[in-house]
Amino acid sequence: MFDHVFKPCDIGALTVPHRIVMGAMHLNLETLDDGGAALAAFYTERVRGGAGLIVTGGTAVNGAGAGGPGYGVLDDEDHRSVLRRAARAVHDADGLVALQLFHAGRYALPGEHGSTPLAPSAVYSRFSRTVPRAMTEEEITGTVADFARAARTARELGFDAVEVMGSEGYLLNQFTAPLTNRRSDRWGGDAEGRRRLPVEVLRAVRAAVGTAFPVLFRMSGADLVTDGTPWQETAALAVALAEAGADALAVGIGWHESPVPTVQAQVPPGTWAGYAEGVKRALRGAGHGELPVIASNRFNRIAQAEEALARGDIDLVAMARPFLADAAVVGKSRAGRDASVDLCIACNEACIDRSFGTERVSCLVNPRAGYEREFPRLPARSSLTYRGRYAVIGAGLAGLEAARTLAGLGHEVEVYEAADEPGGQFRMAARVPGKADFGETVRRRVRELAELRVPLHLGHRVGAGDVHLLRTMDGVIVATGVRPRRPELPGLALPHVLDYPRAFADPDALGPRIAIIGGGGIAVDLAHLLTGRSSTAPTREEFLASHAFTTSSRTTPVAGTSGRPAETPRRVTVMRRSGRIGAGIGPSTRWVVMEELRAAGVRLLTDIAYQEITRDGVIVVGADGNRQLVDADHVVLATGQESERDVVATLHRAGVPFETAGGAAGTDGLNAVRATAQGLRAAHRI
Ligand code: SF4
Repeated sequence: MFDHVFKPCDIGALTVPHRIVMGAMHLNLETLDDGGAALAAFYTERVRGGAGLIVTGGTAVNGAGAGGPGYGVLDDEDHRSVLRRAARAVHDADGLVALQLFHAGRYALPGEHGSTPLAPSAVYSRFSRTVPRAMTEEEITGTVADFARAARTARELGFDAVEVMGSEGYLLNQFTAPLTNRRSDRWGGDAEGRRRLPVEVLRAVRAAVGTAFPVLFRMSGADLVTDGTPWQETAALAVALAEAGADALAVGIGWHESPVPTVQAQVPPGTWAGYAEGVKRALRGAGHGELPVIASNRFNRIAQAEEALARGDIDLVAMARPFLADAAVVGKSRAGRDASVDLCIACNEACIDRSFGTERVSCLVNPRAGYEREFPRLPARSSLTYRGRYAVIGAGLAGLEAARTLAGLGHEVEVYEAADEPGGQFRMAARVPGKADFGETVRRRVRELAELRVPLHLGHRVGAGDVHLLRTMDGVIVATGVRPRRPELPGLALPHVLDYPRAFADPDALGPRIAIIGGGGIAVDLAHLLTGRSSTAPTREEFLASHAFTTSSRTTPVAGTSGRPAETPRRVTVMRRSGRIGAGIGPSTRWVVMEELRAAGVRLLTDIAYQEITRDGVIVVGADGNRQLVDADHVVLATGQESERDVVATLHRAGVPFETAGGAAGTDGLNAVRATAQGLRAAHRI
């Protein structure tokens, strides 16, 4: 199984044990005030889980290159000692690690390190919301020298390789794109001028570390912005980098400003492999076919990597977020336990969205990620001699997480769920087109509980009759979730008014005109479900076509946004009293789902007051005082939730200690990330 994946590969002088590279992730552990302990623990667990070559998150080669306050800078001795510790930890666990050398350019946040961000030209960045300053000749040559010095430092710190970051719209990529490089000196002007900086950086790095030290270069396969690097120039850059001494080319996709989603759940897995394959063909055409090419972006299963490798046009696959979701993604697959891997569901909520700020990166499906020291696995607690007996009430995400954690700690656990199926609110999300992996998460968690011999009692609502049972427990986790909150509004009792769970359960029962009261993430998901033209995610070809690609032009960069036609079976209106629709959805995903809703013709109404629900729909009053009828065959209430905690009175009667997690613990700011994290923490606390 996975014959192509589990074959060693040479990257320069380095032999990596298999074809999966753990791609760079900025974790916000890099600058924690712990001397690098959390970062070392994070990497150690991934190596023990089977990671071969790890690429660290970007380390800025100078102060101006830092992407934000959570980025380490190589000039800083404290950060160098963090990196030294990380490299040593990886080696102690028998892994390999490359340091990513990074310069954010115009993606640096203004004010960081006290200056305006630097860039090839002064072109406004929507991402950092600033106009950067065009670099002087001295600043450019100084940056080349900084990359070279950084590579030498990486070698001295014990790293096995470096990766030069030249994609995703960061500094070196800004130089290759006509959009951001308007220079007329030798660092711009024409194709050769635009690729001069990445090539010079690579040459300088190579000269600094010699031929024996592996140097990877992460280049952009497609910028996906208007006036991005043309494909011919991308191909020529690949060849020039090969000739300048690269030991491997990793191919990234898209900029932070791209109007085309690249890593969200709406993007079918493996969509972008075609660009890396195009790079490989360009290298072959120039006599450099032996240079390893690494595909990346939106692979979440080892089987997808195997399929791409088997096509023969790439040599390795970089996966990043899947190592957050399951540190043992490689090890489990190698052992034939592929079906037990916790899948990355591409929600971005605990990883990419946090990486833009300072909060520690973690994972919705694996809340231990980033907290390996706080929540060690059982072997680290081998002194645990007492096996307790615990009940978990509720089999939503919080309850499932609590149950697997307690069982993993060696306790006896029983799970009781009032519904006939596990998964809670997450089960609804799994019905939304493109979110099928959400359902897979629940299925895999249930399978894991079966492997851990945790009985799951479905259709059992714990109540007064269970006092005796509860008294046999050492403790209980209450993870009973939420129930929909009903607003105060005339007309709620009309027969065409229903709560959101019923709408999710049977969307086909709803008429062609639907008004949704409430504009949070659940309302957005529901609107997506109701207007989806099919219940399944688009294929790779459909996705590319909907974003103005054609299959044959897959290796041609595009500048367009979605050309998706607005033909949907329903007319849906989403309404919110005030604020933005979908405000709670993470920034890396909200724009994608909102674009899809707009393209599907969903009407979005905000800054309104609800007056009444009638047989014809909902009467609302706008900010201008005008009254209007939002006509609807069905009115769905998605107006928030309240905690479901009825069982607490029974627990008090039983006198058993308990902890709450997920929706039962409170609904303010509740989301799936918080629910799983609370499940983990409650299990350790009790
Ligand atoms: Fe994947 Fe979501 Fe976890 Fe990020 S938070 S690694 S996107 S599952």
